[in-house]
Amino acid sequence: MGVIAPLSLDDAVAALSAHPDALVLAGGTDVMVEVNGAYRRLTGDETVVAVSRVAELRSWTYDPVAATVRLGAAVTYGELERAPLAELLPALAQAARTVGSPQIRAAATIGGNLATCSPAGDGLPVLAALDATVELLGPHGVRQLPVGEFMTGVKATALRPGELIVAVTLPVLDGWQGYAKVGVRNAMVIAIASAALAVDRAGPAIRLALGSVAPTVVRATAAEAFAADHVDVAASSVDDATVARFGQVAAEAASPIDDHRSSAAYRRRAVEVLAGRLLRRAFPGNAA
Ligand SMILES: Cc1cc2nc3c(=O)[nH]c(=O)nc-3n(C[C@H](O)[C@H](O)[C@H](O)COP(=O)(O)OP(=O)(O)OC[C@H]3O[C@@H](n4cnc5c(N)ncnc54)[C@H](O)[C@@H]3O)c2cc1C
Repeated sequence: MGVIAPLSLDDAVAALSAHPDALVLAGGTDVMVEVNGAYRRLTGDETVVAVSRVAELRSWTYDPVAATVRLGAAVTYGELERAPLAELLPALAQAARTVGSPQIRAAATIGGNLATCSPAGDGLPVLAALDATVELLGPHGVRQLPVGEFMTGVKATALRPGELIVAVTLPVLDGWQGYAKVGVRNAMVIAIASAALAVDRAGPAIRLALGSVAPTVVRATAAEAFAADHVDVAASSVDDATVARFGQVAAEAASPIDDHRSSAAYRRRAVEVLAGRLLRRAFPGNAA
């Protein structure tokens, strides 16, 4: 097995152009589970391109004029859970704090979460709710994809052979945002259902994305439309009937399955509760 550990993006792209079938390795927290569990069989002939030392992928930038953050793909959940990124992207920080353990978060990257594209990936509902853009670089140049187009199915993405996820760009919104997850325990747990809600006061809009309840992360567009008609984003509160209906409409966007973690019915109910809870947190004042 050949291992290439480029230090620059140019070298990483060159390595992948020369070895389009290479295994890209970032934090290794998904790859090594697959190898150890024999879901990914290595023959010994593979080329591994280890990207965790590529400076451009490790860094992030904040553009206050555009009000965006551009996260390099190898930014870790450990960085996302702390200031200053946590102050710019609070829902992503909340999601980051639910990923594995501190040791996992020190290695696990946002790019790895995206490329694995598990419907339960904790960062992904936040990226979907924020309308993130995924930047890809490969032998044929740069592509920018809305995250909703990047995620194509269960552990399936629009990534092409030889392409690298370079960065994810997210808006810094004016408005409350949060992430919530249900699992069988409070830590070190894969989501049974999850939800991210973002209020965009400038839009105005309330955006909701759901995890673990469909083949891939989905936006609850009917719930968003319901919120547009029934929630005043300039107000501080929302009444109980609106919270309840928002949860019910959100649950209709779920198409969950029964599996070893949960029944589909429980997942649907969990979405209803999580969506309502997030809306209540966004508008906590003077609950009717
Ligand atoms: C004990 C444990 C607990 C976990 N808990 C959670 C959890 O609570 N929530 C959660 O969401 N996840 C969890 N995970 C899964 C994992 O930590 C995350 O999915 C993580 O974000 C993967 O990132 P990584 O850098 O380790 O990816 P890697 O394992 O290095 O790579 C994963 C996949 O992404 C590809 N890849 C990586 N970087 C790029 C890139 N820049 N361009 C193109 N392809 C790339 C790799 O080729 C591979 O296919 C857990 C894992 C473990 C082992």
